[in-house]
Amino acid sequence: MVIVEILQIGVIIVANKKNIFALIPKVDDLLKEEKIENLLEKVPRITVVESIRENIEHIRSQIIKLNEQETENFKIDEEELIEHIIQNVELKNRMNLRKVINATGVVLHTNLGRALLSESIKEDIWNVASSYSTLEFDINSGTRGSRYAHVEEIITKLTGAESAMVVNNNAAAVLLVLDTLAKNKEVIVSRGQLVEIGGAFRVPDVMQQSGAKLVEVGTTNKTHLSDYKSAISEETAVLLKVHTSNYRILGFTEEVSLKNLVDLGKEYDVPVIEDIGSGTFIDFSKYGLYKEPTVQESVLAGADIVTFSGDKLLGGPQAGIIVGKEKYIKEMKKNPYTRAFRVDKLTLAALEATLRLYLNEKDAINEIPTLRMLTMSFDEIKEKADTLYEMLKNNIKNCTIEKINGVSQVGGGSMPLEEMETVLISIKPEFLSINKFEEMLRGYKTPIITRISEDKVLIDVRTIKSNEFDIIVEGLRHILMG
Ligand SMILES: *Cc1c(COP(=O)(O)O)cnc(C)c1O
Repeated sequence: MVIVEILQIGVIIVANKKNIFALIPKVDDLLKEEKIENLLEKVPRITVVESIRENIEHIRSQIIKLNEQETENFKIDEEELIEHIIQNVELKNRMNLRKVINATGVVLHTNLGRALLSESIKEDIWNVASSYSTLEFDINSGTRGSRYAHVEEIITKLTGAESAMVVNNNAAAVLLVLDTLAKNKEVIVSRGQLVEIGGAFRVPDVMQQSGAKLVEVGTTNKTHLSDYKSAISEETAVLLKVHTSNYRILGFTEEVSLKNLVDLGKEYDVPVIEDIGSGTFIDFSKYGLYKEPTVQESVLAGADIVTFSGDKLLGGPQAGIIVGKEKYIKEMKKNPYTRAFRVDKLTLAALEATLRLYLNEKDAINEIPTLRMLTMSFDEIKEKADTLYEMLKNNIKNCTIEKINGVSQVGGGSMPLEEMETVLISIKPEFLSINKFEEMLRGYKTPIITRISEDKVLIDVRTIKSNEFDIIVEGLRHILMG
C-alpha cells in the first residue's frame, strides 16, 4: 500500500500519512474503552473485535484517498469511532432470520414465511422444543412409538379419510406418492393442470424425479373424460388431478370433475390421486371469498389419495399432508423417501396444535392468523387503518399521509383471482426519493416491507398485527424525523 502511494502521490504525503495512520487507535486499546467493555458483557468478543477491525480498516481506506490538504486537516474522532463500532456490533449481533413487518397485504407471502402460527399454540411448541417428548415413544406400552401417530387421528377426523401421514412439504408429498404408486409406470394428467408453483416445483419435473412416466391428455383449456379413458393402458398406474391453485383457465374450458375421474379409476382399477396444493378444511365461500376445494370434499368424492400443504390456507407450519386409503398410505410409509422427507418435532407440535383448533371452526377462524386475515370484515379493516392513520398523523412529519381504498391478495399460490377490499395508508416523503424511503423501511431494525405505487409507499393493515403499529410509528419517526 505504501509503495503504491509513493508512486502515485509522492513521498511527502506518504510521510504525513504515515503519521496519521499512527493516530488510529489500537484494537487492544479500544477493547479497554468503557463503552466497549460494557458491550463485551452482552456480545461475544469475536463479534466486537471483528467490528473494531472493520471500522479501523474503513478509516485506513479513507486516509489512503486523502489529498495533501485533507491529510493535514485529518483528525480521528474517537467518540464517533466508538459509536460506529457499537452500531456495527448491533447489526452483526442480530439474527439473519428474523421478524419483519409484512405491510404488503399479501397474506401468504412465500418469501416472508407464508402462514403465521397462532399465538395460542406457542407453549405447545416450546414445551416439545425444550423438553424431552413423546416424539417416538408410546407412553402406554413404554416402547417405541411412531412420530406420525400424534397427528394421524386428528387429520382423519377432520378430513374423513381412512389414513394420513405427514412429510416435509407438499412437493415432497407428491414425489413420495408418485414414487410409491407409479415408479416406472404411467401417470395420466390433463395438459391444463401441468402447473408450476413458485420455487421451481413443476408437476412434470416431479414426475420425472419419481421415475413415473407422464402421459398428457386433453388440451390446455379442455380435457374430457374420454381423453383419460382412451389413454388408459396396462402401464397406467395412477390418474392424477392437480388443482391449478395459482392460476385459472377461464372462458371456453372444461375439466373432469374428481367424482367422474374416481368413477373411471374404479372401472379400470386405477387409483386416483389429487394434489390440491393449498389444502383447506374450511369452505371460504361462506366468508365471501372464492371457493377453494376442501380436503373433505375430495375425500368424499372418493379420491384414493389427496395431498396438500400445511402452510398455505391451512395456516400451519410447513408440511406436506397425505390423506387417503390405508393400503396406499401403508406402502408409502415403507418408502425410503418417507425417512428422507420426515418432519421434525417442532413441525409436528405446531401442526398438531393448529389442527386441534380446527375441531371448532370458530376457534380456527379466530386463532389462526391466516384465516383471521382472510376473513376480516371490511369494517374491521377500516377500523384498523383508522387507528394506524391517526397514530401516524399525530406523530410523523415530513411526509403526506393519506388513506386510500385498495385490494389485498391471498398469495402463496392460492385463490389467484381473489381481490380482497382493503384500506391502504399511503405515505409520500418530502425529503427522500420514494425508492430510498422504501429501502430505509426495509433496512429498519425491524424491517418494514411495503410496496411502492407511483411516488408513494403503501401500507396494507390487513397483514399487520395491531401490536406492530408502534414499531411502524417508531420506524417512520426514525427515518423521516431522525
Ligand atoms: C403449493 C403447491 C405445491 C407445493 O407445495 P409446497 O408445500 O410448497 O411444497 C404443489 N402442488 C400445488 C398444486 C401447489 O399449489
